Amino acid sequence: MPLPFEDVLLGGLARDGGLFVPATWPTVSAGEIRALADMDYATIAARTVRPFIDSELLDDSLLAKLARETYADFDHSDVAPLRQIDEDTWLLELFHGPTLAFKDFALQFLGRLFDYVLARRGLRITIVGATSGDTGSAAIEACRGRSNLDIFMLYPAGRLSEVQRMQMTTVDEENVHNIAVGGTFDDCQDLVKALFADHELRDELGLSAVNSINWARVMGQTAYYFAAAARLGAPDEAFTFVVPTGNFGNVYSAYVAHRMGLPISKLVVASNRNDILYRFFAEADMSIAEVEPSLSPSMDIQVSSNFERLMFDLMGRDGAAVETAMRTFRNDGVLPGATQIHEDSCYLFEGQRIDDDETLAVIHDVYTNTGILLDPHSAVGVGAARKTARDGCRRIVLATAHPAKFPDAVSRATGERPPLPQHLSDLLERPETSTFIENDVNVLRDFIRHHAAT
Ligand SMILES: *Cc1c(COP(=O)(O)O)cnc(C)c1O
Repeated sequence: MPLPFEDVLLGGLARDGGLFVPATWPTVSAGEIRALADMDYATIAARTVRPFIDSELLDDSLLAKLARETYADFDHSDVAPLRQIDEDTWLLELFHGPTLAFKDFALQFLGRLFDYVLARRGLRITIVGATSGDTGSAAIEACRGRSNLDIFMLYPAGRLSEVQRMQMTTVDEENVHNIAVGGTFDDCQDLVKALFADHELRDELGLSAVNSINWARVMGQTAYYFAAAARLGAPDEAFTFVVPTGNFGNVYSAYVAHRMGLPISKLVVASNRNDILYRFFAEADMSIAEVEPSLSPSMDIQVSSNFERLMFDLMGRDGAAVETAMRTFRNDGVLPGATQIHEDSCYLFEGQRIDDDETLAVIHDVYTNTGILLDPHSAVGVGAARKTARDGCRRIVLATAHPAKFPDAVSRATGERPPLPQHLSDLLERPETSTFIENDVNVLRDFIRHHAAT
């Protein structure tokens, strides 16, 4: 039974632990895609999400207003500008939002959606999320000061860049709670899943999620694929998108655009040394390895939550089969049936892997040739684009973070230390607030019970 959008938005995760996906894929016609080329970003965003949100909840004019407000604060008039870096490669800059990473695109919208729906229903909720870096600050920035929710953000202690951490811990608001966990990002994610599996707690606190397992996040990231491709000539030309990938949320949004009718020749899943997805797409091997810290910490992930959504389509939308396969994967560390799933994914997906040395070399090289400073995540994307066999299609690489978020890596590669934009220039002098807890769900549950204002 399909659920109304409102319940999907607030619930985050289905009660059986599965992920929400649309019952059917809406389609956008070639003419509609062509028309996007001349529209501003907010209009494109509103049109792209329209089929997923019932009009009784949000009519066209209210949706347009929310989208306008969402992207009004972005630091660039194009919102998601394109920049050519060589004869057939463009960068899609997704870091002009308030926290300097692509996650602002969906989360700034999500914060406003939550506000609207909660006020309408007279509800209060508790958002719990896990971050490997950029989700945390983007979610906190989207939720700060909103009177009908608390946000608890878990991050792996010591694994974030200083800028990433301080963008979260310097937010001084009563409804914002930062938690440093003694563990990895996957541990943080498992803790969140464990809380959601506790139905009593879930009802007591009105638990809700904003990490990329929330369908509305995936939905809110689909517009820039349409916007970029339309501006460069879609639907009359198909493009290859190269996506720096961790939790598989962003590249899954590209897949959604493809299912909605955007011509995409290839989706290149770009990984760092944490290469489980590379091994899957290149070698049909999906087996969990240790997470190792890299220069692109927002991609230091082994179990990519949103991959399950792709599996659902690739396995004939058989939810029970996906659940069984995922259970085995989590228990044994190896995905059963990977060969078949791999074969069915090859028509669209390709994996590439870029290690830290290659990342630094790409940052250096692009800076030398173009004067453009890349952050390490975007550099993994550009490196992956260079490794991908040319197929005559132009490539669009997603630049997922601002270089100033990762100044150490950028300066190691180029000798340049990119300054933070004006609104964050005194970030490193602001006082921090955060609580350390061990990787223990009971300690976490107590902490949240104590601090949520429900
Ligand atoms: C979150 C993030 C990624 C990974 O995106 P997923 O949707 O998790 O695959 C890549 N780069 C940056 C800068 C990020 O913040």
